[in-house]
Amino acid sequence: MKENNHIERPPVVVVVGHIDHGKSTLLDFIRQTEVTASEAGGITQHVSAYEIIHQTKAGAKKKITFIDTPGHEAFCTMRQTCSRIADVAILVVSAEDGVKAQTEEAIRVIRENKIPFVVAINKIDKENSNAQKTRQDLAEKNVLVEDYGGNVPVAEISAKTGQGVAELLDLVLLVAELEDLKTAPNSRATGLVLEAHMNQKVGNIATLIIKNGTLTNGDHLVIGDQTFRIKRLNNFLGEQIKEASASAPVEIYGLGKLPEVGACFFAFADKKEAESFLKDQKITPKLIRVAHIANTIPQAEGEIKQVIIPIGIKTDVLGTLSAIEREVKKLSTPLVHLEIITKGVGKISENDVRLVSSGQDAIIIGFNVTPDSSAKDLAEKFGITIQTFDIIYKLSEWLTTEIKKRTPKVTVEEVLGKIKVLKIFSVNRDKQVLGGTVLSGSMILGKQFRVIRRDSVLSRGKVLELETQKIKVKEVAKDKMFGALVESKIGVAIGDVLEIFDLVEK
Ligand code: GDP
Repeated sequence: MKENNHIERPPVVVVVGHIDHGKSTLLDFIRQTEVTASEAGGITQHVSAYEIIHQTKAGAKKKITFIDTPGHEAFCTMRQTCSRIADVAILVVSAEDGVKAQTEEAIRVIRENKIPFVVAINKIDKENSNAQKTRQDLAEKNVLVEDYGGNVPVAEISAKTGQGVAELLDLVLLVAELEDLKTAPNSRATGLVLEAHMNQKVGNIATLIIKNGTLTNGDHLVIGDQTFRIKRLNNFLGEQIKEASASAPVEIYGLGKLPEVGACFFAFADKKEAESFLKDQKITPKLIRVAHIANTIPQAEGEIKQVIIPIGIKTDVLGTLSAIEREVKKLSTPLVHLEIITKGVGKISENDVRLVSSGQDAIIIGFNVTPDSSAKDLAEKFGITIQTFDIIYKLSEWLTTEIKKRTPKVTVEEVLGKIKVLKIFSVNRDKQVLGGTVLSGSMILGKQFRVIRRDSVLSRGKVLELETQKIKVKEVAKDKMFGALVESKIGVAIGDVLEIFDLVEK
């Protein structure tokens, strides 16, 4: 058996900050200049992460993985406890605009998740840039950069011209070094799902970020409540590989179903091991599949059936995400439960649609974000409602109306009258001719009744014919006597009370 020594692994880096402050420009610049020439030429990267090899000022060549989706939920600690995706964050702040709402939001989340970070003061090539003012802005938010009385590393950059970007990457590696990121290369891999989608030709595909160990093609994986064998392993460029080491973004084929973004994966050499691990985990499936929701749900006595509507929430920033989540949770009713299946920051994607696609009744709510065109198409195909908002109360109003529309009609029995059975004239199987008097309300032709004997309900029946003084009538009022032909499985006896009722939809 090989020794399982721990060795250093590359950092996984996420870029965060206010919109338009240059996150995408920075990610593009790094990709174009630092992904090695042979890889960059010809082949286009097709997953939302890439790997670079950066040569530091001191001459060392070091790998870094970048998550290539600004504002991606990769930023957050993932749902299960295995790890979080990002090891280091780059907080991009425009030297032109200084600290803005989403900068503050990013600072809050960085702190909450205890992610080490460096500050990139961007757009310093611009005439009206003011890096000092940006430092001051940051200090006001308790982010004290190194040359402003604190210890947060900072680089002044231009994502457009590339000025300062190499120094920024040096800083990222420095911070990562302090974190002492390690992997045990001889262990089976563990990590997280970065994204997942369905491909018409090859089926379900997931992008994973390995956080420890080595992932080998053919490994058996456990993700959520499924276990499967990797049919093909690709690097981030889509090239087939045999194995991948920690921090690498990889693409895998072979999933039985789409996994949840953010779920942990665990690799095993054989199927049995994977299956027994899954059993031990006792993972309850997160996705609730709801069968088609009927309009009328028959309510058995004392029982309430609840409609479950799968909900997806996407917002521009994490702060609004939690506010909207709270709002949505408040709106559930005893008959309609809003089940949040997926939530996150960023555009509404195809994957979001798939995650909620448990029936025609799913809803995806966007707040200050829009769906991309493939998400729209897929939602249309699945009959899923996507609705976007920029004001919370409008969202609540709309959702309340939707809930009303989707509330199943409850059928209740409304009592119309009570009669007392005084005489039984004849019995023919389940049909009887009886005489009685109306105690309250009225006795009505064609209606149903409950047979009550000594305070308990014995049976149900229906009024088939009704007459008073040998004349056929439709209704007999209180205190009047009548004769009736009724149908009831259990024979009605003298002294029984019949409760006449109607079924009303509410
Ligand atoms: P994001 O929303 O944070 O991803 O911002 P983008 O990367 O899309 O950048 C927003 C705008 O700022 C784009 O028009 C960029 O070309 C521009 N931009 C980004 N970085 C720089 C920079 O360093 N200098 C200049 N002059 N423009 C920049």
